[in-house]
Amino acid sequence: MATTVERTSLPQIQQTECFIGGQWVPAASGKTFSTVNPATEEVLAEVAEGDAEDVEQAVRAARDAFEEGEWSRMDARDRGRLMHKLCDLMEAEADDLTLLETLDNGKPIRDARAADLPLTVDCLRYYAGYADKIHGQTIPIRGDYFTYTRREPVGVAGQIIPWNFPMLMTAWKWGPALAAGCTIVMKPAEQTPLTCLRMARLAQKAGFPDGVINVVPGYGPTAGAAIVKHPDVDKVAFTGEYKTAQIIMRDAAETLKRLTFELGGKSPNVIFADADIDAAIAGTHFGLYFNQGQCCCAGSRVFVEDSIHDRFVERLADLNRSRKLGNPLDTATEQGPQVDQAQFEKILHYIEVGKNEGATCVTGGNRFGDKGYFVEPTMFTDVQDDMAIATDEIFGPVLSVLRFKDVDELVERANRTTYGLAAAVWTRDVGKAHRLAAQIKAGTVWVNCYDVFDAAAPFGGFKMSGMGRELGEKGLDAYTETKTVTVSLA
Ligand code: NDP
Repeated sequence: MATTVERTSLPQIQQTECFIGGQWVPAASGKTFSTVNPATEEVLAEVAEGDAEDVEQAVRAARDAFEEGEWSRMDARDRGRLMHKLCDLMEAEADDLTLLETLDNGKPIRDARAADLPLTVDCLRYYAGYADKIHGQTIPIRGDYFTYTRREPVGVAGQIIPWNFPMLMTAWKWGPALAAGCTIVMKPAEQTPLTCLRMARLAQKAGFPDGVINVVPGYGPTAGAAIVKHPDVDKVAFTGEYKTAQIIMRDAAETLKRLTFELGGKSPNVIFADADIDAAIAGTHFGLYFNQGQCCCAGSRVFVEDSIHDRFVERLADLNRSRKLGNPLDTATEQGPQVDQAQFEKILHYIEVGKNEGATCVTGGNRFGDKGYFVEPTMFTDVQDDMAIATDEIFGPVLSVLRFKDVDELVERANRTTYGLAAAVWTRDVGKAHRLAAQIKAGTVWVNCYDVFDAAAPFGGFKMSGMGRELGEKGLDAYTETKTVTVSLA
């Protein structure tokens, strides 16, 4: 396998300003913040630090584009064409986009190429196809009337995204909003603004009218909160931590905004003794350590049936030890650094907590190297349900193995969490698989697989893992209002 960095000339960082009303502008305050390469701890670029004043301008541009601009008069099919054009440009710049994502986020270049970019483009193309297929209904009502519904765009959509999949989260938000005919004010995460800004530049090149897409980089409590509180933003879509969602819900109460939340998880991954063990081990390893463990749906609570527990742990530990950590620009690297120092410290803290709580650290448990925010693939056994490492979202490469004997008890334990985002079940028994899929309280259940995503399949959480669904036809609900029109035929 190639172990050298394929390209020595790294992409130029061209977009570092706010994108408002089709213009690239510095923050009104003139302030900037640094975005850092987590593999080297070096500053990559200074980016405009947008705030309430910039959000005000962006909302005004988005409102104008929604009410009066070319966008509001455009045929739905032409909206779809523009979205496809954006995808064409992204594919043409795939090399730069994936390198930028790796530099800014730290994810291995092989993942950015194999997963982030193709999934991003696929999501945008999927919704491009929907632009002219958002239909109402005709409804027979009592009396001499003709009643039909229209599905109209909700208006200006405020969108706030995290740092774990910067390009992909941009597409999950832009795709349904643009297809529905909304306009957008987006705030990317402060750790990873670069690819979202590059996508805005490509949207401009594709010919999106001014004001349809606006991007205000900046901090959550300032720029993010200004979006949430703004009376002329009709809807907020947010992905991130549940505690932030609670703040957003309070801030949005004043204007009763429509809200969709995609939040965290502590997903159960259940391995029965009758499973295909090779597949279960590979899927469990991938389901937790992919993206440095920074996935909302990471399978971090691994329930293993007692009779295969020791064999399973031994083989998973071998796989963990063989995982290649290092320079994310190296095409052989499987695991890069965590996104920033705060996440790195949070994860190392939880590892200490796990050790102090009496769990056994079988692999990892330490920082890797002495530069960059790398954490070894860590696995704990002897984990009890109430330990912090089994209840809290760690959002890093830390896996907890829990034993089980009885299926009914297992279901109760799997559901004993405030979260409900995802789950997996590994078994050859079809009946057992379907029974558990129905009994586990989670928005997604994978059977004999993990992390299988598709733009067509709705994704979101039960309980404190979210509100509403993204992706698929369901994902359009959050960006449309249903209007009922009744015409007297008398
Ligand atoms: P946050 O929820 O704080 O951040 C997500 C986004 O929300 C960022 O753009 C952030 O801005 C913004 N934000 C923060 N505060 C506000 C606010 N008051 N109003 C509006 N927007 C706001 O997550 P963190 O990045 O701080 O990560 C903390 C933890 O959250 C992680 O350890 C992990 O457990 C969880 N998480 C879950 C994710 C998921 O996909 N479910 C994704 C990321 C994190 P800013 O750029 O300033 O942070």
